[in-house]
Amino acid sequence: MQEVLDLLQSSSYTVVFTGAGMSTESGLPDFRTKDRGLWEKFNPDELANVHALINNFEEFTNFYQYRLREINKFQPHKGHLILAKWEKVGLINSIITQNVDGFHHDAGNENVMELHGTFRKFYCNQCKREQSREDYLNGKSECSYCDGPVRPGIVLFGEMLPEDVFYKAELETAKAELFIVLGSSLTVSPANMFPMVAKEQGAKLVIVNREPTPMDHYADVIIRNMSIKEFLVEMDKGTE
Ligand SMILES: [Zn+2]
Repeated sequence: MQEVLDLLQSSSYTVVFTGAGMSTESGLPDFRTKDRGLWEKFNPDELANVHALINNFEEFTNFYQYRLREINKFQPHKGHLILAKWEKVGLINSIITQNVDGFHHDAGNENVMELHGTFRKFYCNQCKREQSREDYLNGKSECSYCDGPVRPGIVLFGEMLPEDVFYKAELETAKAELFIVLGSSLTVSPANMFPMVAKEQGAKLVIVNREPTPMDHYADVIIRNMSIKEFLVEMDKGTE
């Protein structure tokens, strides 16, 4: 811990990378985990893709309205709030996330790159104009301008990651002196390349994850025996 604290306090540019583990600590079920309720109602493999958006729009919409309701039941945890505070006081510079729940924004972080898009925004798949999240939640799935299909602002299977966000995340990573991974198994490509890029550019790499990751041999510090929340709370005490 002391080692990470020293790295954090001496780094002039720190980038945090968060994955599913960050969100599950808020209670939010990981939709890829088959043993949770979602799989009884829907099969994400069949619905979370472009094919379903085009050919199975009704079920696609039911699925995403359900997921949005699920996300709305939860909120950022203490760890999210600490990261927001750290951005304000300049301890960290930005967050790259694989999560789509928008909790980093909700917590107050401003410099967030959402690699897989976000549930904070909805838009028309036809005219691309933004649509109301509230309306979507209330069952509206046609565009208010052109009647096209409304969809969440997340990246579906079969779609490219947003190029501008990805590019910005690469630039941030290249600037990092310290790169901290929180709750990602680092197995999803191409997101898993960021820690490697950071390392190649000379950054120190810290990985906080319950399970081993394929990038562990690049890491300067690996923490597995505490939750992300515990880790951030402990670190935060050290910075005060
Ligand atoms: Zn439209």
